[in-house]
Amino acid sequence: MASQGSTYKPKKHAAFLVRCLRGMPPSAISLDSNRMTLAYFLVASLDLIGALFTDTKESDRNEWIEWVWDQQLPAGGFRGSPFSGPFDDACSSSTAPSPTHSSSQAHLASSYTALLLLSLLRAPMDRLNRPGLISFVKSCQLSIGSFSPLRIEMNAEDDVRMVLCACVISDLLGDWRGVDVVRATTFVERCLTYEGGYGQRPGQEAQGGTTYCSLVSLLLLSTAPSSSPSTFPPPSTSRKTISWCLHRQIPQFTIPPLPDADEVGEVRGGGFQGRTGKKGDACYSFWVGGALCVLGASNLVSTSPNRAFILRCQSPVGGFAKAPGERPDPFHTYTSLAALSLLKSSSEEEEDLGLGEMDPVRNVGVGAVEWFEKERERLGWVL
Ligand SMILES: [Zn+2]
Repeated sequence: MASQGSTYKPKKHAAFLVRCLRGMPPSAISLDSNRMTLAYFLVASLDLIGALFTDTKESDRNEWIEWVWDQQLPAGGFRGSPFSGPFDDACSSSTAPSPTHSSSQAHLASSYTALLLLSLLRAPMDRLNRPGLISFVKSCQLSIGSFSPLRIEMNAEDDVRMVLCACVISDLLGDWRGVDVVRATTFVERCLTYEGGYGQRPGQEAQGGTTYCSLVSLLLLSTAPSSSPSTFPPPSTSRKTISWCLHRQIPQFTIPPLPDADEVGEVRGGGFQGRTGKKGDACYSFWVGGALCVLGASNLVSTSPNRAFILRCQSPVGGFAKAPGERPDPFHTYTSLAALSLLKSSSEEEEDLGLGEMDPVRNVGVGAVEWFEKERERLGWVL
């Protein structure tokens, strides 16, 4: 029965993730130039399962830490990998960045995931070129307030996903000198659509991933010292945004399905779609569910059908796919686990999956955020 949830298989997922860290499956070769983000999905998944420090060797973790530091450029910021070339997204509609970039260039998304990766691996931060990273963040902001993934003279496409990267980096560093807060806030506010969700850029269609990025950005921007007095969530729009997010959850049909309703109602029911009229996809349980967490409205999600949908996306070989029966990949594995952690069921009949606690704003386990904060204190990074 499609309506029944599958059993959670953490051991299979840990084995899949470790296999991926040792050698990526052929389907992920196109992601090579963005290996930093890929490593983040894998390591963050192991962290949520609770297998990072039990199922990997200390020597391997030290090697990964060294690899991350090797991607830090002398002027500040991190590149995605030593490889130079174009790449495609793991999920075409995901928020994973997809620019072409050169091995000699720092990249905003890679810098964001590098900080999270180092925190997950509990790396001392003494080697972080903090002034260089702040200066790199500053060099990516356009006059309209948005951020480009590369220094603005590289003419890469800017959007709200990069605003999120700049905001999380600034928040972690405890230093907002790289961000013109007023301009960035104005840009994100302009991404709000008539539907209530946020688009990638002003005038574009509302989408789950960019709604998450916009809300996290607005929340963090509201905490910046140079922020004008404002409240988050914005009362005038949050009700509409919550409603838009909740309507992205696909209902489960209890009536006999129509001939073509099986995929929509039975197999994908309970999951979330990224945009109005689209099919359910496991990653949107995180992007839309995360957006609702940021808005303080995750209690309104119908958690049991969502959990059952995500568990149906598990692959027999470990890992999660975007939909039941499809091939698993690191990106959907991470977002599935993150969604299961964030949208816990309150039902006592459902087994606790034992997943680590997530920080929905910084998009990583709370232990990693606490590690970074301790390092910040130890190194005296105070303005
Ligand atoms: Zn997806």
